[in-house]
Amino acid sequence: MTIKLYNTAKREVETFVPRDPKNVGMYVCGPTVYDTAHIGNARPAVIFDVLARLLRQEYGDDHVTYVRNITDVEDKIIDGAAKRGISIEELTKETTAQYHADMAALGVELPNREPKATEHIQGMIEMIETLIAKGHAYEAEGHVLFSVPSMPDYGKLSGRNRDEMIEGARVEVAPFKKDPADFVLWKPSPGDMHGWESPWGKGRPGWHIECSVMSKAELGEAFDIHGGGRDLIFPHHENEVAQSCCANDDKTFARYWVHNGFLTVDGKKMSKSLGNFFTVRDLLEKTTRLEGCAGEIYRFVLLNTDYRKPLNWTEDGVTNAENSLDTIYTALKALEGVEADETQVAEGVIHHLENDLDTPFALKELIAIAKEANKAGDATEKARLKGQLLAGAKLLGLAQQSLDDWFKGVRDTGEAENGLTDEGIDALIEERDAAKKNKNYARADEIRDELKAAGIILEDSPEGTTWKRA
Ligand code: AMP
Ligand code: ZN
Repeated sequence: MTIKLYNTAKREVETFVPRDPKNVGMYVCGPTVYDTAHIGNARPAVIFDVLARLLRQEYGDDHVTYVRNITDVEDKIIDGAAKRGISIEELTKETTAQYHADMAALGVELPNREPKATEHIQGMIEMIETLIAKGHAYEAEGHVLFSVPSMPDYGKLSGRNRDEMIEGARVEVAPFKKDPADFVLWKPSPGDMHGWESPWGKGRPGWHIECSVMSKAELGEAFDIHGGGRDLIFPHHENEVAQSCCANDDKTFARYWVHNGFLTVDGKKMSKSLGNFFTVRDLLEKTTRLEGCAGEIYRFVLLNTDYRKPLNWTEDGVTNAENSLDTIYTALKALEGVEADETQVAEGVIHHLENDLDTPFALKELIAIAKEANKAGDATEKARLKGQLLAGAKLLGLAQQSLDDWFKGVRDTGEAENGLTDEGIDALIEERDAAKKNKNYARADEIRDELKAAGIILEDSPEGTTWKRA
């Protein structure tokens, strides 16, 4: 039981030794909820979901705390809400719900904790006050800035020299900065702009301070793993290290820094700004497969490339994933009458995951078990292989659909062609209720007949009308 992980901070694969095996902590930077997630944003969610499952497998469910935050304070959110003419709360609520639905379709389990930045503003103000008191931050024209020269180790995580840091951070030229590399901890919100009262006037936090404060609130000053996409190494994570190490008594902060590579399209990072993105929702909707099945196919694609390497999104990749999953489900179907040996652990799969989360090899192992099961003749052997297949698939978050759903494969397009989606049926029932209230029985009967013709049976009761498909 030894997990090895590539630690960005050390630039090498290290053996993972938790501070306390009874209390393993992992913090991963979550979404900024201003717009729907694209499949690139889903890559870290799926990768760290597998890492969380592996940690739970090794240390026990009750000994792992996985925290993934929601960034619901950020200038893109203010702009996004203004553009759509809705409130910030409406936008962040809607986007968060959409994110949860999209990630659930990809088989991503909810983390143990999901703090929101707006719930931690007081903690941010306090950490900024501490940084000022310790001489690591200063106030200038309503802003509070972190003083980069006050921290000799700044740049160590990302390994950048000073010029690269200034260039890479695209640090805005601001006359009030004492040093061009200094970054914002707090900024003013003039007029009726969204903000909170603070010792420096009404304002809002910078993005980096949010994660320093939320990770401390949920996991303490020092914890085991900090993750995110590799675009976050600089400046976001470098700045988190600076803030946390300078403000906290314990200078350890995160011990293992784990970063996933980019999902690309034609070799270019998928991003909102380049416009080369597919949202998870669009991908799920463009297939005729049931949502959970489609989600598993995309999850398989995301796991089929080493997490540190670039993953180029292609139709072929999706087709391969679908075929591989089909091999697994076909084996499970052939084993349908066999009682799985539940004492089996997913040894081979675990072995590869322990090796710096080698998901492509873990998937190969799973398919090898499926093929072996197809050939097995002996009942004990079948039970053993079914047990292994199910345990390995669970660890990877795959083969979680029913056999019926997988082999049915497609949504009932007949319903969609008739316009009779679940929502459509509910709307017709509402219209029928209204017609009955208005004593328009002809229309009410017409709706009942229309639904009956489409195979929808209505059941009236004093509590209202329910329906089922015939
Ligand atoms: P954001 O909502 O933009 O803050 O991004 C959420 C997460 O998605 C971060 O961990 C990013 O590093 C990650 N991310 C964004 N684009 C990509 C991409 N093309 N490939 C992989 N990860 C990405
Ligand atoms: Zn973060």
